[in-house]
Amino acid sequence: MGSVSAISQSAQIVKKASQDSKVMVVVSAISGMTNLLIELIELARKQKQRLIAGRLNKMEEIHRSILKDFVDEEDLDEIWKKEFAPAFKKLRYVLTGISFIGELTDKTYAFICIFGERFSSRIMAYALQKEGMQGLKINAKRVISTDSQYLEANVDFKKTAERTKRIILPLLQKEITPVVMGFSGKDTHGDTTLLGRGGSDYTASILGISLDVSDIQIWTDVDGVMSADPREIKNVQLWSKISLDVMAEMTNSGAKVLHPKTITAAVKKNIPVYIKNTFNPSAEGTLVSGDKRKGLKGVVLVQDQTIINLVNPEMLDAFGFISNCSQQFVDNNVPVDVCATSEVSVTCSIASSDQSNKLNRSLSKIAHVEIHKEKAKLCVIGCDVTQNAELISRIFSVLKNYNIYTVSIGATFHNITILIDNKNSKAALKLLHQELFE
Ligand code: ASP
Ligand code: MG
Repeated sequence: MGSVSAISQSAQIVKKASQDSKVMVVVSAISGMTNLLIELIELARKQKQRLIAGRLNKMEEIHRSILKDFVDEEDLDEIWKKEFAPAFKKLRYVLTGISFIGELTDKTYAFICIFGERFSSRIMAYALQKEGMQGLKINAKRVISTDSQYLEANVDFKKTAERTKRIILPLLQKEITPVVMGFSGKDTHGDTTLLGRGGSDYTASILGISLDVSDIQIWTDVDGVMSADPREIKNVQLWSKISLDVMAEMTNSGAKVLHPKTITAAVKKNIPVYIKNTFNPSAEGTLVSGDKRKGLKGVVLVQDQTIINLVNPEMLDAFGFISNCSQQFVDNNVPVDVCATSEVSVTCSIASSDQSNKLNRSLSKIAHVEIHKEKAKLCVIGCDVTQNAELISRIFSVLKNYNIYTVSIGATFHNITILIDNKNSKAALKLLHQELFE
């Protein structure tokens, strides 16, 4: 949803697909808008009212200038007045309110963040109407049911499926094309919740599962799944097919093609997911399916990791240490990523942004704690790669000049993860990619 031409292109893609099947559309915000909303929230927190006004005007301008291309000139003012201006007014009020107090809750954060999708779904519905289709904007709150973790909510799949069937199916039967706001849902109190950044892919997959669709297509701006991030590596390989397990491993490890939960959800029902390029629609894209194919598929680098080393010599031959450690992460709401254990110690990695003094204090109560900052995670991913000793030895010989802090092999058979220093980690990625794929 990057520009007028990208949106028209998307509408044409929907139209074409609708010729031989029923299509439901899920949209993300217009590019950059969620970031802008988050910036507005930060400005409100800092009580910078004047800057908020300027940014909001810019946001209105962007949406209005895009909408203009999809509606008749004489209707523009009326549509804007009825469907967009009231939402901007609400946004202005809420942000002004926050900037008076300088404080906000996660619930309000979620409420503000979804305005991007509120606007983009309306615009997409008009873009489809311009193509002669009956596009209808649907608020995600009507279909996606979640718990109350406002920023990364968990979906109630049963309720969501019931609602989706009740609300979406009749529309499809009437040849109406629903355009659902991605990224958000509603908790049991009726409040807005978010599915995490980039969550509109996940919305597509949740709704797809709910209706047991034949396939889910994620239209993005790259040709498909590649052997590395093409912004970092020149000679990447593009895959026309990849297995669900391996793809899940890639996104879970931090490859940014898709929201990580998108695939895991689709795997449950064995629904194939296509990743295609809006700007190159005739390209084959990547099919993510249940087919298992052996072979290496990619190297993923994720920087800004922190390693936490926990040692408690009293735990030799005793039990309960790991469970005790895990509990501290649970109590502090910090997800653990890579983990390696020995008899009396546990080493794990977390995202640096999750590290806090509170977590350190909790952990210090049960073990001697050492924190190693500025680390990076390199994951070599492919089907059944962990049993391949020859591959493992190639990886380590490429990294022979690097300090290696933690290694995880075999937690899944599809991922070999190595923690190294942040600095020079991009060079390590290049070396590894060269050795394995070029
Ligand atoms: N607009 C949301 C975000 O930027 C969701 C998405 O783009 O998928 O995170
Ligand atoms: Mg996205």
